[in-house]
Amino acid sequence: MLKNNLGFPRMGSHRQLKKASEQYWQGKITRQDLYAAARKIKEANWQLQLDAGIDLIPCNDFSYYDHVLDMSLLLGAIPARYSPVVASVKGNEEIDMYFAMARGYQKDGLDIKAMEMTKWFDTNYHYIVPEFTADQQFNLFSEKLFAEFNHAKQYVGGAAKPVIIGPVSYLLLGKEKEAGFDKIDLIKKLVPVYVDIINRLKNYGAEWVQLDEPYLAMDLSKKEKEAFEYAYRAIANRVSGVKLLVATYFDALLDNAPLAVNLPVQALHIDLARAPEQLDEVLALMPANLQLSLGVIDGRNVWKNDYKKSLAHITKAIGALGSERIMISPSSSLLHTPYDLDLETAIDYGVKNWMAFAKQKLNEVSELHQIIQGNTDLMRNNQQAIESRRTSTVIHKDTVKQKIAAITDADATRNSAFPVRQQLQQQRFKLPHFPTTTIGSFPQTDDIRQLRAKYKKGELRLQEYEQALEKATIETIRLQEEIGIDVLVHGEFERNDMVEYFGEQLDGYLFTQNGWVQSYGSRCVKPPVIYGDISRPKDMTVRWSSFAQQQTDRPMKGMLTGPITILQWSFVRDDQPRETTANQIALAIREEVVALEKAGIGIIQIDEPAIREGLPLRRANWPAYLTWAVKAFRISASGVNDETQIHTHMCYSEFNDIIEHIAAMDADVITIETSRSQMELLEAFSDFEYPNEIGPGVYDIHSPRVPTVEEMLSLLEKAAILLPARNIWVNPDCGLKTRKWPETKAALINMVSAAKQAREKITEPVTL
Ligand code: GLN
Ligand code: ZN
Repeated sequence: MLKNNLGFPRMGSHRQLKKASEQYWQGKITRQDLYAAARKIKEANWQLQLDAGIDLIPCNDFSYYDHVLDMSLLLGAIPARYSPVVASVKGNEEIDMYFAMARGYQKDGLDIKAMEMTKWFDTNYHYIVPEFTADQQFNLFSEKLFAEFNHAKQYVGGAAKPVIIGPVSYLLLGKEKEAGFDKIDLIKKLVPVYVDIINRLKNYGAEWVQLDEPYLAMDLSKKEKEAFEYAYRAIANRVSGVKLLVATYFDALLDNAPLAVNLPVQALHIDLARAPEQLDEVLALMPANLQLSLGVIDGRNVWKNDYKKSLAHITKAIGALGSERIMISPSSSLLHTPYDLDLETAIDYGVKNWMAFAKQKLNEVSELHQIIQGNTDLMRNNQQAIESRRTSTVIHKDTVKQKIAAITDADATRNSAFPVRQQLQQQRFKLPHFPTTTIGSFPQTDDIRQLRAKYKKGELRLQEYEQALEKATIETIRLQEEIGIDVLVHGEFERNDMVEYFGEQLDGYLFTQNGWVQSYGSRCVKPPVIYGDISRPKDMTVRWSSFAQQQTDRPMKGMLTGPITILQWSFVRDDQPRETTANQIALAIREEVVALEKAGIGIIQIDEPAIREGLPLRRANWPAYLTWAVKAFRISASGVNDETQIHTHMCYSEFNDIIEHIAAMDADVITIETSRSQMELLEAFSDFEYPNEIGPGVYDIHSPRVPTVEEMLSLLEKAAILLPARNIWVNPDCGLKTRKWPETKAALINMVSAAKQAREKITEPVTL
């Protein structure tokens, strides 16, 4: 029974890769320094895996930026626009072209755009999207894979297992950059390169090669399934003497199970953390000789494995296949977990004893193996930890559980329907047509950041800190008044991050010191951890919102992050359904909404930018998720009177397929990102005849560019063709946190002028 691992975090224990690559980009260290830093990280990772007794140790899971971009370089899928970089970079160093593809290139008179980035399945990791053209060619280009395998072989010997993305998933991850072809048809051109790659790895001495095919756990079309069959048959016909392990993860194989188990390969990996229920079917389908890697340890979370559960899976599989055909493994690459729990010195021991980061998860693989061999002590220790978590009073709060159990449909419903509320709100606020507002944050300057850093380090007293924040808030309010914005915001200067700010004030949350996970390139995030029942011990935002409201006669909008976004951007407990945790957060936010209302805040925005990214990977699971997600939002928003106006905000680009659920959220006003798509995204709202008010963004905040009055007016005119004019708000696409002051002022002045002109030009509500 082999101990398998699919991949390991690549930043290093203390984000050494981030530091080294950023220094390299700034020209502060040499290429050799960067390579040396990478070498150390890889060797440290391998050493950990050797120490844990892992039999199949991944290599080439390391990447200087992104493993999908590595594949594009390996396969020679390099967009033509980068050829001048190849020519201009001295010595044609591959790594510089690689970084140019990832980050864009502005040097030597060249200005070449970076490749697009998007989310890696349902993780918060972003990969670089391969670009394909109709006459796309592939050829073995980069030596990185082979160099890394040879390095690994020297270090870990025969355990070294090179990891690449499989051919079908690679194509499905990419994008057609021109019309007239289907990327999946490129499989015929791609397979010969894979054959070369695998044969070369074999010649260098690889015993196993891991091909990641996460798409086998996603919805596939008939053509895509055929591509799998074709590709693996073609590869099997032309390689021998090396074993192939196809890795699937993040969901169940379901209807793709017969396809997956019959691929002509030597081993298949399945995710039993995400989809334990698939084991029986897969075991029943397993053909003779195929080995099965059981992903029993959750590669996506920070919790200690429950050995009893894992053991049940493992013994069942051994019973069906015999132990020689079984591997024990984490469910996916450990890329998505932080590096080492031992580095955390501030987490209470009791809670820490329920957790495991990447390094600890390797050890879990090894311990499960020892338990199978008969080590009962390990099992007993593990079950003690699991039991203490199950019964802990730190986690389980009866009052919270009672509140959740008592939620009724009425709690998730406003008192009156939208038309009634709209009228009451119009009478109350008397806003003009095309009312103007912003999404919440104003520029977070270095001054503000330094202020917070000093306060956190204890170099600044609370009183001084708050005075400085008050000053920034007052200035921002005066500015909005001068510009003539109708519904003001306080600027969010007191917030570092829209989830952390709330997590820090909610019970049931903990924060790590070193719990970094890679988000993209050198960027890492440190998601807070929800370990227990969530409750709100005291007001969270009332102090700042009321202070701001006292400074002005205009309505001041209260600003909150919604339950689904808080859930989505945290590590979530795995001992209860996500829905339950979402409801707990929703109740806490609801209490805050009510407290704001009580404090005289009449307009309250509950941001849900992450509601769409929480969508399950399989479409069949969408309705269930959307039902509880929308309900959680409604619980958070429905504790107030009809006269209180609830806003929500979202900033992603696809509404078509979930529009009815967005409407079901029943926010009085929704502000969305639309300017980059020139209002195209509004069509979903228009086709659906979205009934409530809506603020389509007219100012693209992703760029320092100041939009003109005419541009914004013309966007409003477009919007007024699609939607009733009386329902349209005027606002930027998103918060202004990342912008600088001068451009922000100029853009908002133009935005208010555009709104004023719209009021004159578009007087009659346009009927459809
Ligand atoms: N209110 C937040 C802000 O303005 C919203 C951010 C977001 O949508 N990501 O910064
Ligand atoms: Zn946004």
